[in-house]
Amino acid sequence: MQLLKEKIMDEGAVIDGNILKVDSFLNHQMDIQLFNAMGKEFKKRFKNKEINKIVTIESSGIGIACITAQYFDAPVVFAKKHVGANMSLHVYEAKVYSFTKKQYYTIKVSKEFIKSSDKILIIDDFLANGNAAKGLIEICNQGGAKVQGVGIAIEKGFQNGRKSIEALGVRVESLGIIEGFSEGKVIFK
Ligand code: 5GP
Repeated sequence: MQLLKEKIMDEGAVIDGNILKVDSFLNHQMDIQLFNAMGKEFKKRFKNKEINKIVTIESSGIGIACITAQYFDAPVVFAKKHVGANMSLHVYEAKVYSFTKKQYYTIKVSKEFIKSSDKILIIDDFLANGNAAKGLIEICNQGGAKVQGVGIAIEKGFQNGRKSIEALGVRVESLGIIEGFSEGKVIFK
């Protein structure tokens, strides 16, 4: 997607050798015009799939998922990393290894929000090794829902995420695929 590519080129910064910082339009400040364009593009790519729910992960996926959900006329459920006292005790959960924090955490979704009749599109900001998406797929599977696809804003094509999601029989659509980083610059596919 050209607009996303331009944003990454203009405003993205490579940190620690393999992390793309996009705080100015995706991960901290959010560019809603860009999010709208991304939502429309996800709708276009998944137009032949029945989708009645969007599932994402706290916290960076939530904004993109909410804007995208308007194009599918569907609610958004986000898996929680931080659970308060108001969370149901009846949850589906999965253990996820965080690429950026380098530690395991548990994500949880209340059982009442994933039903066996659900046809789900998973949305997230980044795809690296696929652990976040795999955790979300695991939670959907626990609820007997069907995962219709994974929609990603930025895929780091040099990592294993796509391979491990497709190995589960789930389609992956990414709006910007990065081939690598070279001397602090982003190389696109
Ligand atoms: P994965 O679970 O696919 O290994 O990593 C995806 C998750 O890690 C995303 O939810 C995202 O929050 C974070 N992540 C992975 N790589 C990057 C990156 O290069 N930049 C940013 N900002 N987040 C990343």
